[in-house]
Amino acid sequence: MLAIRNIGELNVVPRGPVGGRSMGDVEIVANAAVLIRDGRIEWFGPQAELDAADDCPALDARGGCVIPGLIDCHTHTVFAGSREREFVQRLEGKSYAEIAESGGGIRVTVEAVRNASCDELVELALPRLNRMLHRGVTTVEIKSGYGLTVGTELKMLEAVKRLDALQPIELVGTYLAAHTTPREFEDRPDDYLDLILDDSVLSRIREDGLAEFCDVFCERTAFDVPRSRRVLLAAKRFGLTPKLHADQITQCGATLLAAEVGAISADHLENTHDKAIAAMKSAGTVGVLLPGCSFYLGVDQAPARKLLDADLPVAVATDLNPGSSMIESLPLVMSIACIQAKMTPTEVLVAATANAAAAINRQDRLGAIGKGLQADLIVLDVPNFDRCVYEHGRDAVRAVVKNGEVVVNKNL
Ligand SMILES: [Zn+2]
Repeated sequence: MLAIRNIGELNVVPRGPVGGRSMGDVEIVANAAVLIRDGRIEWFGPQAELDAADDCPALDARGGCVIPGLIDCHTHTVFAGSREREFVQRLEGKSYAEIAESGGGIRVTVEAVRNASCDELVELALPRLNRMLHRGVTTVEIKSGYGLTVGTELKMLEAVKRLDALQPIELVGTYLAAHTTPREFEDRPDDYLDLILDDSVLSRIREDGLAEFCDVFCERTAFDVPRSRRVLLAAKRFGLTPKLHADQITQCGATLLAAEVGAISADHLENTHDKAIAAMKSAGTVGVLLPGCSFYLGVDQAPARKLLDADLPVAVATDLNPGSSMIESLPLVMSIACIQAKMTPTEVLVAATANAAAAINRQDRLGAIGKGLQADLIVLDVPNFDRCVYEHGRDAVRAVVKNGEVVVNKNL
Protein backbone atom coordinates (compact mmCIF):
# COMPACT_ATOMS: atom_id res chain seq x y z
CA MET A 1 0.00 0.00 0.00
CA LEU A 2 1.26 3.48 -0.84
CA ALA A 3 -0.21 6.97 -0.54
CA ILE A 4 0.98 9.88 -2.67
CA ARG A 5 0.27 13.02 -0.68
CA ASN A 6 0.55 16.77 -1.13
CA ILE A 7 -0.15 16.68 -4.85
CA GLY A 8 -0.55 20.27 -6.10
CA GLU A 9 -2.55 19.20 -9.16
CA LEU A 10 -3.62 15.69 -10.02
CA ASN A 11 -4.21 15.44 -13.78
CA VAL A 12 -7.04 12.92 -14.05
CA VAL A 13 -6.36 11.80 -17.62
CA PRO A 14 -9.35 9.74 -18.87
CA ARG A 15 -8.95 6.36 -20.51
CA GLY A 16 -8.04 6.31 -24.19
CA PRO A 17 -8.74 6.54 -26.97
CA VAL A 18 -9.70 10.20 -26.53
CA GLY A 19 -10.89 11.98 -29.69
CA GLY A 20 -8.90 15.05 -30.74
CA ARG A 21 -11.64 17.53 -29.85
CA SER A 22 -11.76 16.27 -26.25
CA MET A 23 -8.01 15.99 -25.70
CA GLY A 24 -7.85 19.43 -24.11
CA ASP A 25 -10.29 18.43 -21.35
CA VAL A 26 -8.55 16.85 -18.40
CA GLU A 27 -10.08 17.13 -14.95
CA ILE A 28 -7.74 18.60 -12.34
CA VAL A 29 -8.01 17.78 -8.64
CA ALA A 30 -6.16 20.38 -6.56
CA ASN A 31 -4.47 19.49 -3.24
CA ALA A 32 -4.96 15.83 -4.01
CA ALA A 33 -3.82 12.42 -2.84
CA VAL A 34 -3.73 8.97 -4.42
CA LEU A 35 -4.03 5.67 -2.60
CA ILE A 36 -2.46 2.61 -4.19
CA ARG A 37 -3.02 -1.02 -3.25
CA ASP A 38 -1.64 -4.12 -4.95
CA GLY A 39 -0.34 -2.09 -7.88
CA ARG A 40 -3.72 -0.50 -8.61
CA ILE A 41 -5.18 2.94 -7.95
CA GLU A 42 -7.63 2.28 -5.13
CA TRP A 43 -8.70 5.85 -4.52
CA PHE A 44 -7.85 9.41 -5.52
CA GLY A 45 -9.35 12.74 -4.56
CA PRO A 46 -8.89 15.80 -2.37
CA GLN A 47 -6.30 15.09 0.31
CA ALA A 48 -8.71 16.32 3.01
CA GLU A 49 -10.86 13.25 2.32
CA LEU A 50 -7.99 10.81 2.87
CA ASP A 51 -8.17 9.62 6.45
CA ALA A 52 -8.11 5.85 6.92
CA ALA A 53 -4.64 5.25 5.53
CA ASP A 54 -2.66 7.56 7.78
CA ASP A 55 -0.16 4.91 8.74
CA CYS A 56 0.61 3.57 5.26
CA PRO A 57 3.92 4.44 3.52
CA ALA A 58 3.69 7.80 1.79
CA LEU A 59 5.36 9.61 -1.06
CA ASP A 60 5.33 13.38 -0.55
CA ALA A 61 4.75 15.19 -3.85
CA ARG A 62 5.60 18.53 -2.15
CA GLY A 63 3.01 20.42 -4.16
CA GLY A 64 4.15 19.04 -7.51
CA CYS A 65 1.71 17.78 -10.11
CA VAL A 66 1.05 14.12 -10.82
CA ILE A 67 0.30 12.62 -14.23
CA PRO A 68 0.05 9.06 -15.55
CA GLY A 69 3.34 7.35 -16.46
CA LEU A 70 4.34 8.33 -19.99
CA ILE A 71 4.00 5.77 -22.78
CA ASP A 72 6.39 5.85 -25.74
CA CYS A 73 4.29 3.95 -28.29
CA HIS A 74 6.68 4.08 -31.29
CA THR A 75 10.41 3.42 -30.86
CA HIS A 76 13.34 1.55 -32.34
CA THR A 77 15.17 1.42 -28.99
CA VAL A 78 17.02 -1.85 -29.69
CA PHE A 79 19.91 -1.19 -32.08
CA ALA A 80 23.69 -1.26 -32.29
CA GLY A 81 26.22 1.22 -33.65
CA SER A 82 26.06 4.98 -33.86
CA ARG A 83 25.59 7.40 -36.74
CA GLU A 84 26.90 10.76 -35.55
CA ARG A 85 29.13 10.93 -38.66
CA GLU A 86 26.02 10.92 -40.84
CA PHE A 87 24.39 13.48 -38.53
CA VAL A 88 27.29 15.86 -39.16
CA GLN A 89 27.22 15.14 -42.91
CA ARG A 90 23.56 16.10 -42.97
CA LEU A 91 24.30 19.34 -41.12
CA GLU A 92 26.93 20.04 -43.77
CA GLY A 93 24.22 19.78 -46.41
CA LYS A 94 24.81 16.29 -47.80
CA SER A 95 21.71 14.63 -49.26
CA TYR A 96 20.34 11.28 -48.14
CA ALA A 97 21.59 9.74 -51.42
CA GLU A 98 25.09 11.15 -50.93
CA ILE A 99 25.17 9.86 -47.38
CA ALA A 100 24.05 6.40 -48.55
CA GLU A 101 26.72 6.42 -51.28
CA SER A 102 29.43 7.19 -48.75
CA GLY A 103 28.35 4.16 -46.71
CA GLY A 104 25.88 5.83 -44.32
CA GLY A 105 22.18 5.36 -43.69
CA ILE A 106 20.17 2.45 -42.32
CA ARG A 107 22.68 -0.08 -43.68
CA VAL A 108 25.18 1.01 -41.03
CA THR A 109 22.71 0.04 -38.31
CA VAL A 110 21.71 -3.19 -40.08
CA GLU A 111 25.38 -4.22 -40.29
CA ALA A 112 25.95 -3.45 -36.60
CA VAL A 113 22.79 -5.27 -35.48
CA ARG A 114 23.62 -8.33 -37.56
CA ASN A 115 27.07 -8.46 -35.96
CA ALA A 116 25.81 -7.99 -32.40
CA SER A 117 24.77 -10.88 -30.17
CA CYS A 118 21.45 -10.80 -28.36
CA ASP A 119 23.41 -10.15 -25.14
CA GLU A 120 25.08 -7.14 -26.72
CA LEU A 121 21.76 -5.71 -27.95
CA VAL A 122 20.40 -6.07 -24.42
CA GLU A 123 23.47 -4.38 -22.89
CA LEU A 124 23.22 -1.46 -25.33
CA ALA A 125 19.51 -0.90 -24.76
CA LEU A 126 19.48 -1.18 -20.94
CA PRO A 127 21.04 2.24 -20.21
CA ARG A 128 18.75 3.84 -22.81
CA LEU A 129 15.71 2.41 -21.07
CA ASN A 130 17.06 3.49 -17.70
CA ARG A 131 17.37 7.08 -18.94
CA MET A 132 13.84 6.89 -20.36
CA LEU A 133 12.51 5.66 -17.01
CA HIS A 134 14.14 8.61 -15.25
CA ARG A 135 12.26 10.91 -17.62
CA GLY A 136 8.95 9.41 -16.56
CA VAL A 137 8.43 6.78 -19.24
CA THR A 138 6.85 3.62 -17.84
CA THR A 139 5.86 1.72 -21.02
CA VAL A 140 7.73 1.50 -24.33
CA GLU A 141 6.93 -0.14 -27.65
CA ILE A 142 10.05 -1.41 -29.46
CA LYS A 143 10.24 -2.55 -33.07
CA SER A 144 12.58 -4.95 -34.79
CA GLY A 145 13.64 -3.94 -38.30
CA TYR A 146 17.44 -3.60 -38.28
CA GLY A 147 18.30 -7.27 -38.77
CA LEU A 148 16.46 -7.89 -42.05
CA THR A 149 17.04 -11.64 -41.91
CA VAL A 150 14.69 -14.01 -40.13
CA GLY A 151 17.31 -14.91 -37.54
CA THR A 152 18.40 -11.36 -36.76
CA GLU A 153 14.84 -10.02 -36.64
CA LEU A 154 13.95 -12.70 -34.10
CA LYS A 155 17.17 -11.89 -32.21
CA MET A 156 15.99 -8.28 -31.87
CA LEU A 157 12.58 -9.36 -30.58
CA GLU A 158 14.25 -11.80 -28.20
CA ALA A 159 16.32 -8.87 -26.87
CA VAL A 160 13.09 -6.89 -26.26
CA LYS A 161 11.61 -9.82 -24.35
CA ARG A 162 14.73 -10.17 -22.19
CA LEU A 163 14.89 -6.42 -21.55
CA ASP A 164 11.29 -6.51 -20.38
CA ALA A 165 12.28 -8.84 -17.56
CA LEU A 166 15.43 -6.88 -16.62
CA GLN A 167 14.08 -3.42 -15.77
CA PRO A 168 10.85 -1.72 -14.61
CA ILE A 169 9.54 -0.31 -17.93
CA GLU A 170 6.88 -2.52 -19.54
CA LEU A 171 7.97 -3.33 -23.08
CA VAL A 172 5.83 -4.21 -26.09
CA GLY A 173 7.41 -5.90 -29.12
CA THR A 174 6.56 -5.14 -32.76
CA TYR A 175 7.72 -7.20 -35.74
CA LEU A 176 9.03 -4.75 -38.37
CA ALA A 177 11.01 -7.06 -40.64
CA ALA A 178 9.38 -5.14 -43.52
CA HIS A 179 11.30 -1.97 -42.60
CA THR A 180 13.27 -1.91 -45.84
CA THR A 181 14.40 -4.47 -48.41
CA PRO A 182 17.85 -5.77 -47.45
CA ARG A 183 20.70 -5.32 -49.92
CA GLU A 184 20.79 -9.06 -50.78
CA PHE A 185 17.20 -8.84 -52.01
CA GLU A 186 17.45 -5.43 -53.67
CA ASP A 187 15.48 -6.29 -56.82
CA ARG A 188 13.51 -9.15 -55.27
CA PRO A 189 11.42 -7.71 -52.42
CA ASP A 190 8.81 -10.46 -52.82
CA ASP A 191 11.43 -13.13 -52.18
CA TYR A 192 12.37 -11.32 -48.97
CA LEU A 193 8.71 -11.16 -47.94
CA ASP A 194 8.38 -14.91 -48.59
CA LEU A 195 11.04 -15.51 -45.95
CA ILE A 196 9.89 -13.12 -43.25
CA LEU A 197 6.21 -14.07 -43.65
CA ASP A 198 6.75 -17.79 -43.60
CA ASP A 199 4.20 -19.54 -41.39
CA SER A 200 6.99 -21.06 -39.27
CA VAL A 201 8.40 -17.59 -38.48
CA LEU A 202 5.05 -16.00 -37.66
CA SER A 203 3.94 -18.94 -35.53
CA ARG A 204 7.24 -18.84 -33.60
CA ILE A 205 6.69 -15.12 -32.89
CA ARG A 206 3.23 -15.91 -31.59
CA GLU A 207 4.18 -19.00 -29.58
CA ASP A 208 7.21 -17.39 -27.94
CA GLY A 209 5.29 -14.16 -27.22
CA LEU A 210 7.91 -12.12 -29.11
CA ALA A 211 5.58 -9.48 -30.57
CA GLU A 212 1.98 -8.27 -30.40
CA PHE A 213 2.09 -6.05 -33.47
CA CYS A 214 3.35 -6.18 -37.03
CA ASP A 215 4.50 -2.94 -38.63
CA VAL A 216 5.52 -2.11 -42.20
CA PHE A 217 7.23 0.91 -43.74
CA CYS A 218 4.68 1.63 -46.47
CA GLU A 219 6.25 4.12 -48.85
CA ARG A 220 7.24 4.27 -52.51
CA THR A 221 10.89 3.83 -51.53
CA ALA A 222 10.15 0.92 -49.18
CA PHE A 223 7.11 -1.39 -49.51
CA ASP A 224 4.22 -0.34 -51.74
CA VAL A 225 0.57 -0.75 -50.76
CA PRO A 226 0.01 -4.28 -52.23
CA ARG A 227 3.15 -5.60 -50.54
CA SER A 228 2.35 -3.83 -47.28
CA ARG A 229 -1.15 -5.33 -47.39
CA ARG A 230 0.37 -8.77 -47.88
CA VAL A 231 2.65 -8.29 -44.85
CA LEU A 232 -0.07 -7.08 -42.52
CA LEU A 233 -2.68 -9.65 -43.53
CA ALA A 234 -0.21 -12.52 -43.21
CA ALA A 235 0.81 -11.38 -39.73
CA LYS A 236 -2.80 -10.79 -38.72
CA ARG A 237 -3.58 -14.47 -39.34
CA PHE A 238 -1.09 -15.21 -36.56
CA GLY A 239 -2.61 -12.72 -34.14
CA LEU A 240 -0.23 -9.82 -34.79
CA THR A 241 -2.20 -6.56 -34.93
CA PRO A 242 -1.31 -4.25 -37.86
CA LYS A 243 0.52 -0.91 -37.52
CA LEU A 244 2.03 1.20 -40.29
CA HIS A 245 4.71 3.79 -40.93
CA ALA A 246 2.38 5.87 -43.11
CA ASP A 247 2.32 9.11 -45.13
CA GLN A 248 5.78 10.13 -43.94
CA ILE A 249 7.27 11.20 -47.27
CA THR A 250 4.52 10.76 -49.87
CA GLN A 251 0.81 10.02 -50.05
CA CYS A 252 0.97 6.50 -51.45
CA GLY A 253 -2.21 5.16 -49.86
CA ALA A 254 -0.62 3.87 -46.66
CA THR A 255 -3.15 5.44 -44.32
CA LEU A 256 -6.08 4.17 -46.37
CA LEU A 257 -4.50 0.73 -46.10
CA ALA A 258 -4.24 1.21 -42.33
CA ALA A 259 -7.98 1.76 -42.17
CA GLU A 260 -8.68 -1.11 -44.57
CA VAL A 261 -6.76 -3.72 -42.55
CA GLY A 262 -7.99 -2.41 -39.19
CA ALA A 263 -4.58 -1.14 -38.06
CA ILE A 264 -4.46 -0.09 -34.43
CA SER A 265 -2.32 2.90 -35.40
CA ALA A 266 -0.94 4.77 -38.40
CA ASP A 267 2.31 6.49 -37.51
CA HIS A 268 4.21 9.55 -38.87
CA LEU A 269 1.46 11.24 -41.02
CA GLU A 270 3.64 14.24 -41.96
CA ASN A 271 2.01 14.26 -45.42
CA THR A 272 -1.41 12.89 -44.66
CA HIS A 273 -4.61 14.22 -46.26
CA ASP A 274 -8.31 14.68 -45.55
CA LYS A 275 -9.52 11.42 -47.08
CA ALA A 276 -6.97 9.45 -45.07
CA ILE A 277 -7.92 11.22 -41.85
CA ALA A 278 -11.60 10.41 -42.42
CA ALA A 279 -10.76 6.76 -43.13
CA MET A 280 -8.71 6.47 -39.94
CA LYS A 281 -11.45 8.07 -37.93
CA SER A 282 -14.09 5.63 -39.13
CA ALA A 283 -11.76 2.63 -38.69
CA GLY A 284 -10.86 3.61 -35.11
CA THR A 285 -7.16 3.90 -35.96
CA VAL A 286 -5.00 6.05 -33.66
CA GLY A 287 -2.83 8.65 -35.40
CA VAL A 288 0.67 8.54 -33.91
CA LEU A 289 2.73 11.69 -34.48
CA LEU A 290 6.51 11.69 -34.21
CA PRO A 291 7.42 15.39 -33.81
CA GLY A 292 10.99 14.61 -32.75
CA CYS A 293 11.65 13.03 -36.15
CA SER A 294 10.51 16.14 -38.09
CA PHE A 295 12.49 18.33 -35.69
CA TYR A 296 15.60 16.21 -36.07
CA LEU A 297 15.36 16.15 -39.87
CA GLY A 298 14.39 19.83 -40.11
CA VAL A 299 11.18 19.15 -42.06
CA ASP A 300 7.57 20.26 -41.60
CA GLN A 301 5.56 18.77 -38.74
CA ALA A 302 2.51 16.58 -39.34
CA PRO A 303 -0.73 18.64 -39.46
CA ALA A 304 -1.57 17.96 -35.83
CA ARG A 305 -4.35 20.57 -35.56
CA LYS A 306 -6.09 19.14 -38.60
CA LEU A 307 -6.08 15.66 -37.04
CA LEU A 308 -7.34 17.02 -33.72
CA ASP A 309 -10.09 19.07 -35.40
CA ALA A 310 -11.24 15.88 -37.15
CA ASP A 311 -11.66 14.38 -33.66
CA LEU A 312 -9.09 11.66 -34.39
CA PRO A 313 -7.39 10.19 -31.31
CA VAL A 314 -3.80 11.44 -31.62
CA ALA A 315 -0.77 10.00 -29.83
CA VAL A 316 2.79 11.34 -29.68
CA ALA A 317 5.98 9.23 -29.50
CA THR A 318 9.75 9.72 -29.84
CA ASP A 319 10.46 7.39 -32.81
CA LEU A 320 13.80 6.89 -31.02
CA ASN A 321 16.15 5.52 -33.70
CA PRO A 322 19.80 6.05 -34.64
CA GLY A 323 19.10 7.74 -37.99
CA SER A 324 16.20 10.18 -38.02
CA SER A 325 15.35 10.74 -34.34
CA MET A 326 18.15 10.00 -31.88
CA ILE A 327 16.01 11.43 -29.07
CA GLU A 328 15.34 9.36 -25.97
CA SER A 329 13.36 12.01 -24.13
CA LEU A 330 9.59 11.79 -24.56
CA PRO A 331 9.09 15.00 -22.48
CA LEU A 332 11.34 16.85 -24.95
CA VAL A 333 9.32 15.51 -27.89
CA MET A 334 6.12 16.56 -26.09
CA SER A 335 7.50 20.09 -25.88
CA ILE A 336 8.33 20.01 -29.59
CA ALA A 337 4.75 18.86 -30.31
CA CYS A 338 3.52 22.00 -28.56
CA ILE A 339 6.00 24.49 -29.96
CA GLN A 340 6.17 23.26 -33.56
CA ALA A 341 2.96 21.27 -34.11
CA LYS A 342 0.83 23.70 -32.05
CA MET A 343 -0.73 21.19 -29.70
CA THR A 344 -1.57 22.45 -26.21
CA PRO A 345 0.24 20.95 -23.20
CA THR A 346 -2.97 19.20 -22.08
CA GLU A 347 -3.54 17.71 -25.54
CA VAL A 348 0.03 16.46 -25.64
CA LEU A 349 -0.32 14.98 -22.15
CA VAL A 350 -3.31 12.92 -23.32
CA ALA A 351 -1.38 12.05 -26.50
CA ALA A 352 1.56 10.60 -24.56
CA THR A 353 -0.56 8.70 -22.03
CA ALA A 354 -4.18 7.68 -22.78
CA ASN A 355 -3.91 7.71 -26.58
CA ALA A 356 -0.43 6.19 -26.58
CA ALA A 357 -1.91 3.35 -24.48
CA ALA A 358 -4.66 2.94 -27.09
CA ALA A 359 -2.01 2.76 -29.85
CA ILE A 360 -0.56 -0.35 -28.17
CA ASN A 361 -3.83 -1.86 -26.91
CA ARG A 362 -3.13 -1.07 -23.24
CA GLN A 363 -6.00 1.41 -22.70
CA ASP A 364 -7.88 -0.88 -20.29
CA ARG A 365 -5.00 -0.82 -17.82
CA LEU A 366 -2.52 1.98 -18.63
CA GLY A 367 -2.27 5.63 -19.61
CA ALA A 368 -5.00 7.04 -17.36
CA ILE A 369 -5.90 7.81 -13.77
CA GLY A 370 -8.97 5.94 -12.56
CA LYS A 371 -10.02 3.59 -9.81
CA GLY A 372 -8.80 0.06 -10.52
CA LEU A 373 -6.29 1.10 -13.19
CA GLN A 374 -2.62 0.18 -12.85
CA ALA A 375 -0.71 2.64 -10.67
CA ASP A 376 1.83 3.96 -13.17
CA LEU A 377 2.28 7.57 -12.08
CA ILE A 378 4.92 10.26 -12.15
CA VAL A 379 5.47 13.11 -9.74
CA LEU A 380 6.77 16.33 -11.31
CA ASP A 381 8.45 19.18 -9.45
CA VAL A 382 6.28 21.78 -11.18
CA PRO A 383 2.90 22.95 -9.84
CA ASN A 384 1.02 22.29 -13.09
CA PHE A 385 1.62 20.44 -16.34
CA ASP A 386 1.72 23.60 -18.51
CA ARG A 387 4.83 24.62 -16.58
CA CYS A 388 6.49 21.33 -17.44
CA VAL A 389 6.20 22.01 -21.19
CA TYR A 390 6.92 25.73 -20.81
CA GLU A 391 10.28 25.00 -19.18
CA HIS A 392 11.47 23.28 -22.36
CA GLY A 393 14.17 20.67 -21.90
CA ARG A 394 14.23 20.79 -18.10
CA ASP A 395 13.97 17.47 -16.30
CA ALA A 396 10.93 17.93 -14.05
CA VAL A 397 10.50 14.29 -13.04
CA ARG A 398 10.92 13.75 -9.32
CA ALA A 399 9.53 10.28 -8.79
CA VAL A 400 8.25 7.42 -10.90
CA VAL A 401 5.77 4.85 -9.62
CA LYS A 402 5.47 1.71 -11.75
CA ASN A 403 2.80 -0.84 -10.93
CA GLY A 404 2.48 0.68 -7.44
CA GLU A 405 6.23 0.58 -6.68
CA VAL A 406 8.43 3.66 -6.38
CA VAL A 407 11.13 2.88 -8.97
CA VAL A 408 12.68 6.37 -9.25
CA ASN A 409 12.91 8.79 -6.37
CA LYS A 410 14.96 11.94 -6.85
CA ASN A 411 15.28 13.65 -3.46
CA LEU A 412 11.68 13.46 -2.47
ZN1 LIG B 1 9.72 4.49 -36.81
